[in-house]
Amino acid sequence: MSTLDFRRASRVADAVAWLREEPDAKLLAGGQTLLAAMRLRLAAPSLLIDLQALPELQGLREDGAQLWVGAMCTHASIAASPLVRQRLPGLARLAAGIADQQVRNRGTLGGSIANADPAACWPAGVLALGATVVTDRRSLSADDFFQGMFSTALEPDEVLLGLRFPMAPRLHYLKFEQPASRFALTGVAVARAADGVRVAITGLGHGVCRWTEAEAALSARFDPAVLGALTLSPERAGTDLHASAAYRAHLAGVLTRRAVLQHLTSTP
Ligand SMILES: Cc1cc2nc3c(=O)[nH]c(=O)nc-3n(C[C@H](O)[C@H](O)[C@H](O)COP(=O)(O)OP(=O)(O)OC[C@H]3O[C@@H](n4cnc5c(N)ncnc54)[C@H](O)[C@@H]3O)c2cc1C
Repeated sequence: MSTLDFRRASRVADAVAWLREEPDAKLLAGGQTLLAAMRLRLAAPSLLIDLQALPELQGLREDGAQLWVGAMCTHASIAASPLVRQRLPGLARLAAGIADQQVRNRGTLGGSIANADPAACWPAGVLALGATVVTDRRSLSADDFFQGMFSTALEPDEVLLGLRFPMAPRLHYLKFEQPASRFALTGVAVARAADGVRVAITGLGHGVCRWTEAEAALSARFDPAVLGALTLSPERAGTDLHASAAYRAHLAGVLTRRAVLQHLTSTP
């Protein structure tokens, strides 16, 4: 039987060194995905590297026109943060809608985007806002970071430190929930700034993606009516036991229209 070691890193450099020494090591954030995968024998790391004690991965602060959110910030702490609620309320609402209170209390922003579940909520908000992903060695745009289903630009020995979110755009995220988990059967994030609109879709099955045709139409005229002539191709979606590709693609259109309406009818 294989053994499992556990270490708590007190320096980012130690976490990186341990990842290099032990190819089967895994970083442990909130454990909400990783521990479930281990229980189901889908993952069998030889070493768990706990990130809780790393100060670089903690904290939420305003940094000029940007909001810094440490990778180890939990969904619950982001949802409850007065700073996020005031400066990027759409992000706080997104966090508040993830899973249930227990998962929100443990699950982290960094764990969610490193995992890049194709039905997760954070990737849509991060991509729509055009956030910057900061790791121990570089900064990446959200467009470069997400690379498909459970796939990111992170190297096996790379540690995500946190994200920088621009605070200028307003964000509305809507999802049609898978009722048991609250993961997105389809979820749409619409971010509107002075220089244009970005639309990111999660839940289609192949990883988070942008809907550039909707972005162009909405950047020209921010009105749900401009989406009337647009449909998302079902080829961009997948079919599983929960929904067909055609249904998911249809939901993407409906949710985008509703998110635009929310922008037009709600206060920030
Ligand atoms: C019942 C249930 C319902 C859920 N519903 C939703 C939902 O509605 N919407 C949603 O978006 N999510 C949902 N989730 C997922 C939840 O948000 C998880 O918290 C998240 O996917 C993983 O975060 P974590 O901190 O627990 O990461 P972990 O499970 O600890 O780690 C996940 C992966 O990320 C890697 N990792 C973690 N931190 C870092 C880092 N700093 N640098 C590099 N790699 C890192 C780990 O090595 C691991 O491979 C749900 C989960 C459960 C159990």
